[in-house]
Formats: sequence, structure tokens, C-alpha cells
Amino acid sequence: MKVAVDVNGERVQKQDGSQNETLDLLSSTQSIIKMAVRKLGYSEEMYELLKEPLRILTVRIPVRMDDGSTKIFIGYRSQHNDAVGPTKGGIRFHPEVSEEEVKALSMWMSLKCGIVDLPYGGGKGGIICDPRSMSFLELERLSRGYVRAISQIVGPTKDIPAPDVYTNPQIMAWMMDEYSRIQEFDSPGFITGKPIVLGGSQGRESATAAGVTICIEEAAKRRGIPIKGSRIIIQGFGNAGSYLAKFMKDAGAKVIGISDAYGALYDPAGLDIDYLLDRRDSFGTVTNLFTNVITNQELLEKECEILVPAAISNQITGENANKIKADIIVEAANGPTTLEATHILTNRNVLLVPDVLASSGGVTVSYFEWVQNNQGFYWSEEEVAQRLRTKIVDSFERVFSTAQQYQVDMRLAAYMVGIRKMAEASHFRGWV
Ligand code: GLU
Repeated sequence: MKVAVDVNGERVQKQDGSQNETLDLLSSTQSIIKMAVRKLGYSEEMYELLKEPLRILTVRIPVRMDDGSTKIFIGYRSQHNDAVGPTKGGIRFHPEVSEEEVKALSMWMSLKCGIVDLPYGGGKGGIICDPRSMSFLELERLSRGYVRAISQIVGPTKDIPAPDVYTNPQIMAWMMDEYSRIQEFDSPGFITGKPIVLGGSQGRESATAAGVTICIEEAAKRRGIPIKGSRIIIQGFGNAGSYLAKFMKDAGAKVIGISDAYGALYDPAGLDIDYLLDRRDSFGTVTNLFTNVITNQELLEKECEILVPAAISNQITGENANKIKADIIVEAANGPTTLEATHILTNRNVLLVPDVLASSGGVTVSYFEWVQNNQGFYWSEEEVAQRLRTKIVDSFERVFSTAQQYQVDMRLAAYMVGIRKMAEASHFRGWV
């Protein structure tokens, strides 16, 4: 079963409607959390605390549609752990959103915040809807209705939402405006990923791809591979994939493959990235303009130095892990590699940079946005880029050295780094 994903490797299209995959994602996340808790020497009680979110709210949102009818939408907000500080994480609008998925995503947010050392726990929200078939005004009413429904459990010092799959700065602006009206004071720190004029941060839109780029550079350094002239394949051409293609091209790498939900383009001589960026639609589709497309699976198995799954989950599995030829895999998508494949690739000495580290650039710049909102003083693009670089380089080193110290794969090492702060904070608070 395949699930297409875009911004930060988040899901945008599912080809099989069953829920099994999200249950798998949740249970595999729990199994790595369990291993990490044990490796770190914490008790089973600590695992019991961390294996599920502390709180999940389900809401039913009535929305007046343009034709005069009323439709009831179901939404969720999950808060995994708030021992370190307020919870933080995006809101996705997608027909396949489910409670299990939102839960797992909020747990990944806790891990990301721990890895990048932000003063947050993880949260996530979602609404079951298809924004592609809704009007601008319907989307505005839905966004405002969701904020009214969850307003009691969110706030600048409680839980700070952000964009995710199919949500954008405009939706963040409506949500911020609705929250400010409810509170009767201006609350830019309620949500991140806002338009710049409403307190958004420079560099937020390309932050996920910028973080992935830094991880690629760090991984390439460890493997002695120069970025200039190296061959890179990027699966997915959404927010993360498209910005990444541009950044890698600018750095002198040869982008030889890209894909979307419908197929892949491959050219060993290098693709014309500027042309493809110009022609992609807002959902990241571009291969429909070409006839010489190959499948996503074929693309993954092509020869290259660097492979970035930035599209769909469960793409590298026990079945194809032995056919992957890349030296380095950097996961911009959430959950693109199964645990079995992680094991095979690690044994084959492929350097695999896991999703919870590689895709943490978005929440990092969201944190910068919140800091700027709280202090009312705004930073330049260069300042944001420099601070992001410092955070990601340090985090990469922490995960890499943990993997070496404990002789574990990079995924387990990332979970260990991600959990440590949350577990310590829970301990000091006297919870466990
Ligand atoms: N939705 C993004 C993520 O999954 C960003 C979250 C945020 O900016 O708070 O990392």
C-alpha cells in the first residue's frame, strides 16, 4: 500500500483506503520508543507514559457551505507530551486523516523537538476534508471553526499549531485572526507559518528543505562525498522536494531523478530543475507533462550517491532495500523506510538519516518565528538561516555520535536523543 506525501514528506495521497498503515506507523513508532527507553535505562513506566499522547481532542465542526447546506467536519488535536514545554506541531487538511495518524504524528513531533533541542513537546492536528474540492470561503469557515472548537486547549504557551499537509500561510492567518478575536488581544504567537506581514518568519516556507540540505551536507562529509557533481534522486516534488531540488542544484549537485504521485522522471545527465519548478502545480504534480516517465519504485533503484525519499511512506521495504544503490539516504518524508529495510541498509553500510532528524527544519524555524513573536523583534533571512544551520549541524552530530557510542542505527539513535529531554523533564516534574 502506498501513501503519497509532500510538505515535510507528509501524506497527500493514499492509493488504498485502509487504516492499517497508520496503525503500523503507530506501532512501529512505539516499538522504537520502547527500545530507546530501554537503551537509555529508563523504567517501563516511562515507556507507558510516552507510548501514547497525553491528550487527544476530537471535534465536530459545522461549516456553512457555499450552496447553503451545512457540512459537519471531524477534526483532532493530539498533544503527546508537555513536560518540556508547550506542545507544537502542524495541522493537516486531508481526506485520509485519522485519529491514529494524528497520534503518531504528534509523537514524531515530540521526537523532532527533542532532537533539535527546542523547548517544546509534540502536538499535531488534522481535519478530515479535501481542500482541493473546497472553495476559498469554505476553507476560511472551516479553519475558523476548527480554532473555535479547539481554542480551550491551544494557545501561545499551551500548544502552538503550524502548517502541514495542504495547509498554508493563508490558513494560518485565518486561524490566528480567529484566536485573537476569541482572546480579545493580538496573539501572533498562537500559530506559526504565518504570512510575513502577520509576524511570519523569513525562511519558514523553505525551512524543511533547508534542514534536509544541511543533513545531506553533514552525511556527505561523513562519507567523504563532495556535493558538487554528486548524483541525487528526490522522490516527491511537493514543498520539501521542490525546494530541495533547487538547493541541491544551486550547490552543484546533479539532480538526476524526481517524481510525483503519478510517476518519475530520470535523466543520468541531470534534469532541468528550473523548468520543472516552473511547470509544477501547487500540489507538486509535473510528470503528467511528460511521456517518458518511469515508476517511483524504478526511480528508487537507480544508481546515485544520495537518495531523498520526500514523498510517500513505506517506500523502502524488505523487498527493495537490497536493490537501493545510494550511499546516503536522507528521509525528508515521514516513515519512508520500514524497520526491516532500516536494518538491511544499516548492515549494508548505507548512511540513513532518519525522518525525525532530517525533516526537523520546519519546526525549528517555527520555533524561531514564535521567539520573534514573543519578543516583537524580527530577524533577517541570513540570521534565520545561520541559526537553523547551527541547530541542525549540532543535532546531526548528537545523533551520529549517539549511534556510534551505543552501536545502534541512526534511527534508534535519533529516538534516543529525542526522548532523553522529555523523559528527564517528566522525571523532574515527578510524573515518573
Ligand atoms: N508540520 C511540520 C512538521 O511536521 C512543522 C511543524 C511546526 O512547524 O510546528 O514538522
